[in-house]
Amino acid sequence: MSAQERIIIAGLRPTKARLAVLNTIADADSALSHPEILERLSTQKEFDRVTIYRVLDWLTEHDLVHKISGENRAWKFQLSQQKFTSATAPKATSAVLSNNHHHAHLHCKVCGKVTCVHELEPHFPAPLLAQYQVTSIDINIKGVCADCASLK
Ligand SMILES: [Zn+2]
Ligand SMILES: [Zn+2]
Repeated sequence: MSAQERIIIAGLRPTKARLAVLNTIADADSALSHPEILERLSTQKEFDRVTIYRVLDWLTEHDLVHKISGENRAWKFQLSQQKFTSATAPKATSAVLSNNHHHAHLHCKVCGKVTCVHELEPHFPAPLLAQYQVTSIDINIKGVCADCASLK
């Protein structure tokens, strides 16, 4: 699915900057930080860092990408799993607990590559959830990716 289709299916308006940033994230084989996205878009001088920041916020807000906490508290951005119901579904009321926000991330300690693991989800005891208002869930698993392991 192209960046343009993802934005249109979500009922949103694609702009040049939105498409450029979303394509950059979609083309990467791992989550990208803001400086990495800037670097990859540096050939397209029409987008300054503020524009790219704003677009990243917009993409995150609309759940087209999600933020992952990386090293040194720097966020990394990864494409969200497309929700095929998003065109018809009302705005997610429990966005925090939607599928995009409670999966786990594998972090390679060597190269910093981040991979989404949608199969691993937290299962909360209902009494705890009733008492505590969860606003975000961030499960991080550290290890060594296959590429880095094969270098040894
Ligand atoms: Zn690695
Ligand atoms: Zn993820």
